[in-house]
Order: sequence, then structure tokens, then C-alpha cells
Amino acid sequence: MSLALAQVIDETSLTDQVRQLVQAELPPIVDAIDTGTLYPSAFMRKLGALGAFAAHADVRGVDLNPAIDAMSEVAEICGSTGFMTWCQDALVWYVANSDNVALKEKLLARVADGAMLGGTGLSNPMKSFFGIEKLKLKGTRVDGGYVVNGALPWVSNLGPDHVFGTIFETPDGEKVMFIANCADPAVELLPCDPFLAMDGTGTYGVQFRKAFIPDDMVLAHAAMPFVTKIRAGFVLLQAGMGTGIIRDCIEIMQRMKTPLGHVNKYLTAQQPEDFTSALSALENEVQILASTPYETSDFYWRRVVEARLQIGDLAMAAAHATMLHTGARGYMKSHRAQRRMREAYFVGIVTPATKQLRKMLAEMAT
Ligand SMILES: Cc1cc2nc3c(=O)[nH]c(=O)nc-3n(C[C@H](O)[C@H](O)[C@H](O)COP(=O)(O)OP(=O)(O)OC[C@H]3O[C@@H](n4cnc5c(N)ncnc54)[C@H](O)[C@@H]3O)c2cc1C
Repeated sequence: MSLALAQVIDETSLTDQVRQLVQAELPPIVDAIDTGTLYPSAFMRKLGALGAFAAHADVRGVDLNPAIDAMSEVAEICGSTGFMTWCQDALVWYVANSDNVALKEKLLARVADGAMLGGTGLSNPMKSFFGIEKLKLKGTRVDGGYVVNGALPWVSNLGPDHVFGTIFETPDGEKVMFIANCADPAVELLPCDPFLAMDGTGTYGVQFRKAFIPDDMVLAHAAMPFVTKIRAGFVLLQAGMGTGIIRDCIEIMQRMKTPLGHVNKYLTAQQPEDFTSALSALENEVQILASTPYETSDFYWRRVVEARLQIGDLAMAAAHATMLHTGARGYMKSHRAQRRMREAYFVGIVTPATKQLRKMLAEMAT
């Protein structure tokens, strides 16, 4: 069997296995996750055991499509869990791309199989690199590592024994990317006030008070070249969150045809078929881009940013149309149309948010 064929079969079976797990185990807990009474760590570990976070852990010749497809299956049922899947996938992506052998030996297998859960605190750094806000974490060099102070307002998929990747700045302006350990008493998790959605995603404010970061937890002493290497993957992996939500919105709109098609047909250019063809074009573009995440051309990066912008826009448009198609049914708290709408807005505001993406495109050379 050719390698290419073997990869297709592997990818299909991962997607199928994730779909089976998700359809069997996620619907009964989706409302508890949505309302924030459940952080589904046990479910996340099951996803990890299936290999949902491991498809991009070997970076040689890496293709991000299997990870994106698996995430999309999750987000089709639950946007919050789809987002947590991205958090874990981003964490794996950081560790897998690090040159720090000690760090990789310590963490890669455990984060890739979901035994160790965690996420990413790159929103503030990503905004700072594009001139939107200042870096919030400061670190100074000490023997064998760094001491870090500061606070991040929101980091998701966290718990007392979780880890996440983020960046601090030294007094001389160097940026260092590292893995923070929530079990460290100097790293405090602070509960957040309730959100519109995503309350079950283990999202906390994180306060660093003289936290010692040993060298074996440093992803890259020079963060900027590292970020340039991982940024397309960071952005493209988010595609699965959006496509899953869009697919479910299409399915909800289709179901409304029998009872309400005679009037819903006047929702011109907001029909499920419109979203199906827009989704298909977008998935094709993502599939191409996600197969070469290390490409360095400006042209490629622009396409990545444009695709990410379109995913947010399409998710919000599909969820909006779904509300109009479902009418009073979808306006009820018991109907998932309103949950999909709240989740879709998150795709538009999570970093890189719609406004940041538009700023980036406006500032790119044409
Ligand atoms: C549910 C949820 C989960 C998130 N998970 C993560 C994560 O895992 N990792 C991560 O790095 N980021 C996370 N974020 C942050 C997210 O990625 C975006 O950065 C955030 O939504 C704001 O982006 P924005 O570009 O719209 O910025 P804006 O909202 O325009 O500006 C953000 C800045 O405004 C200030 N600000 C505005 N409102 C408040 C407030 N109520 N409290 C405190 N400061 C405020 C802060 O300085 C903040 O940095 C999460 C946000 C939410 C709502």
C-alpha cells in the first residue's frame, strides 16, 4: 500500500472513530458543558486516547487535516468541546515544534495522548505582535531558568494539574515562549465571571507571582522565530471549530424545511444550500493550506489569514440564518440553534479575532 493511501485510510478511521465517540457520549453532556456545570476532562481524555490530538504530533511532513477533521466532528456537536480540542491541539503543536529535547521527552507523548490536558495563552502575545496591546507577562533570567510575573485574563482547558504555552518578555525586550504548569503554587488560576457561552471550557485568569520557569519548560528562548514557524498551524487548526458549527447549522436549517419551508424560502441567499457551497469552498481552501503549515511565503500567510476570517464570518452568518430559519423554536433555551449562535460568535472573537484579522490584512503588503 502506498504511503499516501495509508494516510488517507488512517485519517478516515480517526475521523470515523472520533465521530462515533462524539455522537455516543457528547450529546448527553453538551448542555452541562454549555452552562458551565461540567468541564469534560474525562471526555477530553477519551478523545486523546483515540488519537484526536496526536495526528500532528510528529512534525516530519506534517499535515494538519486529520486534526482539523477530528476537531470538526467534535464542534459539530459542541462548540465548547471543539474549542477545547483546539486548545489541546495548539499545546501539542507548540511542544512538537520545540527544539528543547528535554521538554519534548517530558511532555510530548502525554499531551498528545490527552493524559496531560492543557492549552494556550497566546492571545495577548498574538495581539501584542500586531500592535494591539502590550505583553502582559514579564520574566527575568536566573540560574537555570526564568522568574515570571504578570497575569493573563483568559486561558482555557485548564485545571489544577494542567499546562499551557505562553510568552513573556525580558527587561531587554527578548521574548521567551514556555510551558506554564498550573500545579505550581506561584501560578494561580482565578475563576472568570460567566460568559455568553464557553463556561464549561475550564477558562481562568492566570496570575504568575514570581513563578520559576526551568529551562526544561522553555519552548523557545527566542520566541519570535518560533512563532513565525507555528503561526499558520495555530490559525489553521482553528478551522475545525468553525466548520463543525457551520455543518450543524446547515443540518438544523434543512430540518426546518418540512414545517417552515414555505416561508423560509424567502430568506434569500441564506438557504442551507448557500452555506453548503460556501462551506465546501472554504474546506477545500483549508485542506490545501493545512497540508503545508510551514510554508513561509507572504502569499501563503495572507491566504491563511483570509481563510480564518472567512471561517468566523461564515460561522456567524450560518448561525444567524439558523436563528431566522428556526424562529420561535430556535429562540427557546432548549433548542440548540441559540447555543450554536452563541458558540459561533466565539469563533469571531477568539484570537485572532475578526477585527485583528482585518487589521492584519489591511497592513499586509498587497
Ligand atoms: C471564553 C473565552 C475563552 C478564552 N480562552 C483563551 C485562551 O485559552 N487563551 C488565550 O490566550 N485567550 C483566550 N481568550 C481570549 C480571546 O482569545 C480573545 O483575546 C478575547 O476574546 C478578546 O479578543 P479581542 O481581540 O476581541 O480583544 P478586545 O476584547 O478588544 O480587547 C481585549 C483586552 O481588553 C481588556 N478587557 C476587555 N474586557 C475585559 C474584561 N472584562 N476583563 C478584563 N480585561 C478586559 C483586556 O486588556 C484584554 O486584553 C478567551 C476569551 C474568552 C471570552
